Amino acid sequence: MLLQEERGQIVEYGKKMSADGLSTGTSGNISIYNSEKSLMAISPSGVGYFDTTPEDVVVMDLEANVVEGTKKPSSEWALHTAMYKTKPDCRAVVHAHSMYCTVFAVLNQPLKAVHYVIGDAGVATIPCAPYKTFGSKELAEAASEACGKSDAVLLANHGMLACGKDLKGAYGLACGMEFCAEVQYRAMCIGDPVVLSDEEMEHVMIKFKSYGQAKEK
Ligand code: 13P
Ligand code: ZN
Repeated sequence: MLLQEERGQIVEYGKKMSADGLSTGTSGNISIYNSEKSLMAISPSGVGYFDTTPEDVVVMDLEANVVEGTKKPSSEWALHTAMYKTKPDCRAVVHAHSMYCTVFAVLNQPLKAVHYVIGDAGVATIPCAPYKTFGSKELAEAASEACGKSDAVLLANHGMLACGKDLKGAYGLACGMEFCAEVQYRAMCIGDPVVLSDEEMEHVMIKFKSYGQAKEK
């Protein structure tokens, strides 16, 4: 079976996404891109995360061909391939209908720098891509265009998407953006949240580069 390691991770993180309340039912989807093999492993369409097995994960190339798999790939395969084609460092994508990101997505409003953690996406504002039908080529194009340099983007009247250098990173960013959206929503309920300046956010993004433990050589 191709991309066995990636298949296992997709099953694991699908369960996590469901258990963490980031996506209800069969909403959302997950993929990993193996750049050495030029192949993407993606969750199957409409299969519950706790019912998904490694065999159900579909392997595709970036030109829309299913290379291995018996199930239909996620309806958003084009959304995922668009990210791998336009972002050279992207190796994993998480798409979710998480509650607070989706609240701003239905308002067609971006996430603002009301909390410094937004800088995890590499930008100070998470843009919102215009509405397009789910599973369409138009949605894939609108999302990658709106995303620009950001590692995360809201999808109008739909949900959110986060990219990472691996699945742990993409999933962590999805959780971070959901936290920022919840904070922005709650702050807006009782007042007018203060938005950090671009200058402050520049400092944050520099500090993020050396945050945590030094990487093992
Ligand atoms: P799939 O089950 O086809 O991945 O679709 C879920 C979804 O979120 C569509 O936008
Ligand atoms: Zn969706």
